[in-house]
Amino acid sequence: MAALSIHPSVDNGIEPAADNFEGGTLYCNCAENKVAVALASQTAHNHVCGCTKCWKPAGALFSAVSVVPRDKVRVTANESKLGVVDSSATIQRYACKACGTHMYGRIENTGHPLYGLDFVHTELSPSHGWSPPEFAAFVSSIIESGFNPARMGEVRSRLREIGLEPYDCLSPPIMDLIATHAAKQKGVQFNA
Ligand SMILES: [Zn+2]
Ligand SMILES: [Zn+2]
Repeated sequence: MAALSIHPSVDNGIEPAADNFEGGTLYCNCAENKVAVALASQTAHNHVCGCTKCWKPAGALFSAVSVVPRDKVRVTANESKLGVVDSSATIQRYACKACGTHMYGRIENTGHPLYGLDFVHTELSPSHGWSPPEFAAFVSSIIESGFNPARMGEVRSRLREIGLEPYDCLSPPIMDLIATHAAKQKGVQFNA
């Protein structure tokens, strides 16, 4: 059986965040005229994601994705190469039309709990010191991309070995945040 590649940024150990890290620039995978997206901030909630929508590098089972405030995201080169992958999706993923790399994902629904945060893949930046992945989300979803369901035990053990707790949705703190937002929108009163 082939060795598992979770994601190149975690397969050989996870690099810690740098203190006072202030961001960097993401570049698409084109050989020339690269799309460049400047992030003027450290990222948060970094995790590996097994869903079928997130962009994954070749050979990886998971994407590595984090969030950054949308006002800290600026396309600085070759914006004309960007297009939205699926305009009906909740997250509008802007990808390079030439190489297919997803450069940032944006939520336009102002009522969404994660509105105001853009989704990015910091492995596209040559800088070191980005917030590292903290958990694994939507682990079971890799089956939808064709991964052998009989090997899921192996994947979950490998994730734990790396230090990424596997979840089949998002992590409990993020699920709680989303549910709290939904409850507040409905005017729910929390019990003491
Ligand atoms: Zn490109
Ligand atoms: Zn995903």
